[in-house]
Formats: sequence, C-alpha cells, structure tokens
Amino acid sequence: MIPTKWDREADVVVVGFGGAGAAASATAYDAGAEVLILEKAPEEHAGGNTRVAAQGYLNTSCVEKGATYLRELCGPYKVPEDMIRVWAEEMTRNTAWVKSLGGDPQEHQFQPEGIEYPELPGSDCVHKFHDGPTYGYSLTWKRFESFVLEREIPVLYETPGRNLIQHPETKEILGVKAERDGKLVLVKARKAVVLTCGGFENNQEMIRTYLSGLPYCYPSGSPYNEGDGITMALGVGADLWHMNNYAAGPSMALKVPGIPTTFSMQVMHYAKEFPGTLILVGPDAHRFVDEKYKTRHGKVPFNGSWRTLQIPCPMYMIFDQTLMSAAPLYNKEPAAGWTPVIEAYDWSDDNSAELEKGWIKQGRTISALAQTIGLEGRTLEETVERWNGFARAGEDSDFGRTVMLTPFDDGPYYAVELSPAMLNTQGGPRRNEKGQIVRPDGTPIPRLYSAGELGSIFSYLYQGTGNIGESLAFGRISGRNAAAETPW
Ligand SMILES: Cc1cc2nc3c(=O)[nH]c(=O)nc-3n(C[C@H](O)[C@H](O)[C@H](O)COP(=O)(O)OP(=O)(O)OC[C@H]3O[C@@H](n4cnc5c(N)ncnc54)[C@H](O)[C@@H]3O)c2cc1C
Repeated sequence: MIPTKWDREADVVVVGFGGAGAAASATAYDAGAEVLILEKAPEEHAGGNTRVAAQGYLNTSCVEKGATYLRELCGPYKVPEDMIRVWAEEMTRNTAWVKSLGGDPQEHQFQPEGIEYPELPGSDCVHKFHDGPTYGYSLTWKRFESFVLEREIPVLYETPGRNLIQHPETKEILGVKAERDGKLVLVKARKAVVLTCGGFENNQEMIRTYLSGLPYCYPSGSPYNEGDGITMALGVGADLWHMNNYAAGPSMALKVPGIPTTFSMQVMHYAKEFPGTLILVGPDAHRFVDEKYKTRHGKVPFNGSWRTLQIPCPMYMIFDQTLMSAAPLYNKEPAAGWTPVIEAYDWSDDNSAELEKGWIKQGRTISALAQTIGLEGRTLEETVERWNGFARAGEDSDFGRTVMLTPFDDGPYYAVELSPAMLNTQGGPRRNEKGQIVRPDGTPIPRLYSAGELGSIFSYLYQGTGNIGESLAFGRISGRNAAAETPW
C-alpha cells in the first residue's frame, strides 16, 4: 500500500544520526536536497557510537596504498575491487571535507598503537585525526553534529524508523514507516532514503545468529543500535554482508542489571601494571588466555592467520586483596564508551560500593570464593596454585603472560563475572560503490542507500579509526547520490 497522506516529507530521509547520518545529511543538503533525519534515541542520547567513540577518524594519505592495505585487511574475505577503489579514493578526502565545513582536523598522537597491521603492504597510508586542538570525549562528534544543526535539517528524535515503504511493482523505496510515542509516522522520501542506523550490538538474537561462538554479548557503545537497519533492509529484499565480523570483540567486561552497556575493567588493560594480581577462568575454573594480551580490535594470531579471541561464557576475573585495595577496578574517567560518557556511573574509589551491590564477590579462601560463584573449589585452587608457581618462576608456561606476573596474596579473594563485549558490528545490507543497497543478485534497490557501520566494508581485519572514516566517506557518497535522484 502506498500511503495517500504523509505526516512528513523531504527529498532525502536519513535514518540514524551518528557520524554516517551527519555526513550523508550535510552532503545531501549542500547538494540542494531538502533533508530530514529520523533518530531513535532522545536528543540527550543521540550521536550513536560516534559520540562515545575514541573520536579518531581515518584519513588515508594515498589512494594506491589505501587500496592495497584494505585488500590485505580483507584477506580471504574478499570485497569487490570497485568497492576497494571507491573506498580508497574517498578516504583520502575526509580531512579536506571536514575542513571545508569549518572543522579543525588534527592528526593525533594519543593512540600509540597507530597502524594496526604495520606488517601489511600499504599500511603507512594510515593517518588518524580528531577534531580540535585538544583531544576530549565527544569533541569530534560535536563537530559532525554541528554540520547538521547549523543547516536547516530537522532531526526528529525519539522517532525510530521501523519499515521501509516500497513500491509494489517498481520496488522503489518511497519512504519510511517510523514510530513516535507508539504512533505510526509516515515519512515520504521524494528522492531517496539513506540508512545510517548503526549495527546490531544490542540485539541478542542477531548476535546469537551471526556472531560465531557468542551466546550473548553486550555493547560498549550505543544501546540504541539494535539491528533495525538490517530488519528494514531485509524487508525490501536486500542482501547482507560481513555479518560475522565485529570490532574489538569479544572483549571481556562487566555487565550489570539495569545498565544496558558494559563496564570495562581497567585492571585488565593490556600493559597497565597494578599491585596484586588477577587471572581469568571459565566455568571449568581453568584459565584460557593471557589476561593482559592486547588483541588487534579482537583479532588474535592463529597459526599464521587471524581469528577472533575464543572465550568461554561466563568468565570470572579472580583477584586478590592487594589488587582490590589498589585502585577502582573500573576506569570512570570519561574517555570513550557509553557507560563512562553517558551513564557516568560513579564507581567507588575503593570498590566497596560495588562489593556491597554484589557486582564483586568475596571469599575468605579460594574454595569459599569458588562456592559463592558456583565453580568447582578444588579445581579453582589448583588453577591459582599453578598460576602462583608460574609467577614465582617468572614465566607463565601456559599463556606467556608477562604483565602482573605476581602470586596471589593471603586473601581474602574476589571475583567479578565478565561477559563478552564489543565496540561495534560490521555487518549489514550489502552496498555498492554508489552507496546503494543491493539485492542478492547485485542489482540496486532503487532509492535506497546506506553508510557507516551498517554494512561496513570491513570484512575481516580492522584498522582502528576506520569505522568513523568510512562513515564519513560513504556518508558523502550516499548523500550526494541520494540528492542527485529525480523525485518520484
Ligand atoms: C567505545 C567505542 C570506541 C570507538 N572508537 C572508535 C574510534 O576512535 N574511531 C573509529 O573509527 N571507530 C570507533 N568506534 C566505532 C565507531 O564509533 C562506529 O563504528 C561508528 O561511529 C559508526 O557510525 P554510524 O554513524 O554508522 O553509527 P552510530 O554512530 O552508532 O549512529 C547510529 C545512530 O542510529 C540510531 N538508530 C538506531 N536505530 C535506529 C532507527 N530504527 N531509526 C532511527 N535511528 C536509529 C542510533 O540511535 C544512533 O544514533 C568505537 C566504538 C565504540 C563503541
């Protein structure tokens, strides 16, 4: 049914107001289109993952090197050459575009890891930028947001897109069925719809279906990203791609009732040293990993190739009194992530409030602790004794850990249950080099575009800052092609 009466209309309707939505909207507007944005979150929660990200975006310095590097990152999970080319060309234009709109791109030094796969050819094309002279949380997002707010682009907050309206014969996308206060809102798109509504980080059914080995997983970023774009695109015949790929996952973090996003445990962070010690165990009470290993956005080496970190569920961080007394387990400084930036939960300095809440469990002995968390006591004791032996010998013979190589103290002992967590999914509707969403046979669905992590180009390995970089690049491509459509 094509509605005869519409509640709102515009040339280009953009669904989702994060980085990709901002780039698509501003570009379509500057190309002369009337633009309207639908955003699921209330205004104070808008901005998606882009807002709570580490604020870096990629600008590659050379088209040829960029194409080579991306081809290598995709490895055996091949991406069509025309997509590689268009990505490589457009990714060299990010900073110039941001600057042309009044932004202040600054190359940043704060991420020492820089190039994620320096051993791959072309990797020296990587240059990471943030906006403004100082690095601060949400600042790059604030700049992207201003590109929309300073133009005449209405944003309908708390108005999620639910379905696309498709012409029954021509299959053109004519508009969006959105929802506001439980009521249907019919939004006509005279030229096109651009889906920029993020991934499925907070959709447990999709996680179980698409992310191998994960019975559940929780977001570090926006809880509003629930795979709606995938549902909408599937409803009009779209193909999907890269559904099994995700960034910085699984990491291991605390999830508590009542807060949709995760708490990252700073005491587990890579090279950070704290007094005392910790180990991670699975439900069998055995260790399974170098707890302080830095993955490459979730990927670990595997016999000359890469795969995601294999983890058991649930996992328990077991630690001693010295670590408990040393520092808050969680870094509450708002650098990135939904929990620190938006929830702003005030974790107690001595971890006592979280012990009281039961987020941290305590036992006078290892076996008492095991009983509290439902693990086999003797096995956990053996695991701790084995770890203590490695620590005293100065060598972790099981997993090669070199950081916080300290034996457990005399107790009491503590445990935190950890869940798999992630930054963002990469899968979604497949798009072509014009940003159009395509069907399984490769033909475009007329008047339907996408950008951002919803169907990202990253099929396998990921270069940090690539997602926001791609959001800008494909936001512009889809925005200008959507604006160039002839109204129906
Ligand atoms: C903690 C963290 C740190 C990160 N750091 C970096 C980094 O430094 N650099 C980098 O490149 N990447 C980083 N990433 C990944 C990156 O933030 C995202 O992949 C990228 O911002 C995605 O942009 P987007 O516009 O596609 O989606 P988002 O920014 O997530 O925006 C999607 C928007 O769509 C809205 N939405 C959802 N459903 C609907 C619906 N049905 N209707 C309307 N609106 C809807 C959401 O509310 C949201 O506002 C990080 C991610 C996290 C979580």
